[in-house]
Amino acid sequence: MSAKHVSHWIGGKPWDGEAERRGDIYDPATGQVSGQVDFADQGAVDAAVAAATDAFATWRSISLAKRASVMFEFRNLVKANAAKLAELITSEHGKVASDAAGEVARGLEVVEFACGIPHLLKGGFSENVSTGVDSYSIRQPVGVVAGITPFNFPAMVPMWMFPIAIACGNTFVLKPSEKDPSASLLLASLWAEAGLPDGVFNVVQGDKVAVDAILAHPGIKAVSFVGSTPIARYVYENGTKAGKRVQALGGAKNHMVVLPDADLDLAADAAVSAGFGSAGERCMAVSALVAIDPVGDELVGRISERISGLRVGPGTDERSEMGPLVTGPHRDKVASYLDSGVREGATLAVDGRVHPVIGGAQAGFWLGPSVLDHVTPQMSCYTDEIFGPVLSVLRAPSYEAAVELVNNSPYGNGVAVFTNDGGAARKFVSEAEIGMVGVNVPIPVPMAYYSFGGWKASLFGDTHVHGTEGVHFYTRGKAVTSRWLDPSHGGVNLGFPVNT
Ligand code: NAD
Repeated sequence: MSAKHVSHWIGGKPWDGEAERRGDIYDPATGQVSGQVDFADQGAVDAAVAAATDAFATWRSISLAKRASVMFEFRNLVKANAAKLAELITSEHGKVASDAAGEVARGLEVVEFACGIPHLLKGGFSENVSTGVDSYSIRQPVGVVAGITPFNFPAMVPMWMFPIAIACGNTFVLKPSEKDPSASLLLASLWAEAGLPDGVFNVVQGDKVAVDAILAHPGIKAVSFVGSTPIARYVYENGTKAGKRVQALGGAKNHMVVLPDADLDLAADAAVSAGFGSAGERCMAVSALVAIDPVGDELVGRISERISGLRVGPGTDERSEMGPLVTGPHRDKVASYLDSGVREGATLAVDGRVHPVIGGAQAGFWLGPSVLDHVTPQMSCYTDEIFGPVLSVLRAPSYEAAVELVNNSPYGNGVAVFTNDGGAARKFVSEAEIGMVGVNVPIPVPMAYYSFGGWKASLFGDTHVHGTEGVHFYTRGKAVTSRWLDPSHGGVNLGFPVNT
């Protein structure tokens, strides 16, 4: 089988230039290189921005009815190609097929939200704000906008951004993760099939060079970023310095707080599902379990029982519940926290390095689910975002101590509380300094018509993604005051306009 070659999509077609730099794409389940991806230089980014700039001139004035009909067509095509997209994701990311299908389904929800763009862009109108004077507000697209996305959701995270940006009348340049670049090209070809004019949606593949070219490009007016906290901070600082509107979503350390009155079987099910789904490579994964005394030992026992039955194997094997990690270096880094955790005083309750792998190739990037118990807030397995299948269990003597722990975290993406006490849950929702809270829901990802985003070091900028905040991010508000002149309006008046 010949190795695949993945490149850019510019001006409605695959790029036919010759890249000076390329990166390897891996199949995480075999550990083998499956192809190569072109890395964009300044020239490729310039070409994408030029195509998007040309397209903006007409796309911004195309009717809302036409824009909505393209969105509906795109929605149908993504749905029809969902299995193909999921297969591409599994082959480069490693996640199991059902999980890959789930991310396509959640991305589709944003496309469906964007189909309602005529309603979402409705402004306000006030008749007679002064005699014979009317005022109204409209929202207009900002221009060429860019999205820079992480490896862990190669379809869903870009779909948090571009459906709304495009429906609002902007044109888009996507820079996906170089680790799993293929889904972006299938999405680009589906846009073309849906009737989107050439140049409205473009893809540049690559690394820091492409990101820096986007951040510095004067033709790009807004940047949406999702990835780790250090790069989110970098993108926010440099993008805003260059005069752009930026929303940059960063990393996470999500706590799940279990109160003593909780149903421990349901809590253990939730901790295992949210800790190890997608091998823990989710920004909303539970990575810190906070057991309020005295339920810690009981909870760790029930979690360990459940882990022993988990089937780890290739994402293409339908028996697998958890796939490999994305790359060899990432697997090694995640595994290193098991040693450092024990060195720093934690107990290794479950060691994922010895978990059996069903039907997997030796060289795959495997690491089974692991649990570090008796973790304290000073340990690196708690302070660092591990982004893998490692659950750290901390003990808290009281509800107050648990809330303090959660609120002292520099991250503020997601948190969950497990309890049967409505009053305690309500208090927790109010007190948690976190952007997305689950009550007996371990992964509280908002629906497309709400907005997704964390607080503190999990988000730089003011607006969350998708929902009405997404519409606001990709548009500028304009207030218009108008009157239709007749002879009674004559006369010069240098005073400030006031109502008399
Ligand atoms: P990453 O920060 O390494 O990469 C994200 C993007 O930035 C990629 O497109 C990458 O090519 C680019 N990039 C990487 N290094 C760069 C550099 N030095 N300069 C400029 N650009 C650079 O993140 P990742 O490993 O792909 O994804 C995992 C991270 O994303 C985790 O930290 C996870 O929590 C986070 N994430 C956050 C959310 C959220 O909603 N907050 C969602 C998904 C993932």
